[in-house]
Amino acid sequence: MRVRFAPSPTGVLHIGGARTALYNWLLAHRHGGAFVLRIEDTDRERSTPENVEQILDALRWLELDWDEGPLSQAERAPAHTAAIEQLLSAGHAYEDEGAVRLRVPDDGETVIQDLIRGEIATPNQAIQDFVVRRSDGSALYNLAVAVDDRDMGITHVVRGEDHISNTPRQVMILRALGEEPPVYAHLPLLHGPDGKKLSKRHGAASVQELRASGYLPEAVRNYIALLGWGYDESTTFFTTDELIDRFDLSRVSKNPAVFDEQKLRWMNGRYLRGLPVEELKSRLERLTGRELPTEAVEISQDKMQTLADFWPLAGFLVERRDFDDRAWSKVMRDGAAERLRAAREALEQADAFDVETVEQALRGVVERFDAKPKDVFQPVRVAIAGTTVSPGIFESVAALGRQETLARIDSALLKASGG
Ligand code: GLU
Repeated sequence: MRVRFAPSPTGVLHIGGARTALYNWLLAHRHGGAFVLRIEDTDRERSTPENVEQILDALRWLELDWDEGPLSQAERAPAHTAAIEQLLSAGHAYEDEGAVRLRVPDDGETVIQDLIRGEIATPNQAIQDFVVRRSDGSALYNLAVAVDDRDMGITHVVRGEDHISNTPRQVMILRALGEEPPVYAHLPLLHGPDGKKLSKRHGAASVQELRASGYLPEAVRNYIALLGWGYDESTTFFTTDELIDRFDLSRVSKNPAVFDEQKLRWMNGRYLRGLPVEELKSRLERLTGRELPTEAVEISQDKMQTLADFWPLAGFLVERRDFDDRAWSKVMRDGAAERLRAAREALEQADAFDVETVEQALRGVVERFDAKPKDVFQPVRVAIAGTTVSPGIFESVAALGRQETLARIDSALLKASGG
């Protein structure tokens, strides 16, 4: 089996493109075949080297490595020209005002056995003799695709449904060249949760955005594998090896699949919790570009859905933040300063500063004031974190350490006293 991914570098890699790449990659791995990368850069105006680099970068991040390529379609112009010459000399094409047209039979139909959509028959009458070479000598898109698929020995073309309408023309070109066309499989459209075609409105639409939002490539692979494919009714989590073992085009649906970023977030959270702390730490360090204390990572792991959640949640363990006005005015009232002062004393006097002693100290204050736990914990939280969100309060205080905790509480007390 030889499959290919053939992006046009006219923009970034979108989720639909990533799914196409993944499915092809899975097939190549499952069947011991080759995954070929071809860059369809014949639109010289809209294809840029930056876009090519972004696409390659997105594929590398997804860990979808290719076995051959990247080949440039534009650089294959001589092969396209030779194929057109062959069509002309065999009488399958003719010149028309400088352009070259393929001769389409007047009757009969062109039938494609699509592995996902079944038989697609197009009456030849519906297709006029179409241009394969412009009068400036350049080949048309369908000609280039057909010739490249032939020359690269592609056995299975797996691509988005938007290419169905091109397929009969590509098949006609291949047959006129004396070739048997490859097997085709057209993947279903992607919709957002509102049932409309997937677009920017639905959140992160490109692989680069997913990466910047702190998703893990293995979670993204798992989630996008399920956009149109399922192994059974109930299994949601698949390692990449399991995907390779189980992925099968016969289980790809022809109905539109729904990309729901909330589900991806949830799934990503599950993947995050499964990472060894050291691994999570190094991924967070790569994303934030900072060195992070292991403890900060450890106590945040259960509370994050994406890597990007870390900094708002636990950044205060790395650097001091200003007090958030809203959190301050919500929490620092009705005697909160007094309870905070008592918490400071209890923390200063604690014999040790591990999670348990911190908990004992703070619960002691709760009892002494006959207060609700949150009436003590929230002022401490705002004092150390600046906001009302943080990992567990005892864990956070212990991770911050005695000296820094006391210093931050002092600043809060100073502010509370109008200083
Ligand atoms: N270059 C086309 C695209 O980016 C894909 C062509 C194909 O897979 O045949 O949509």
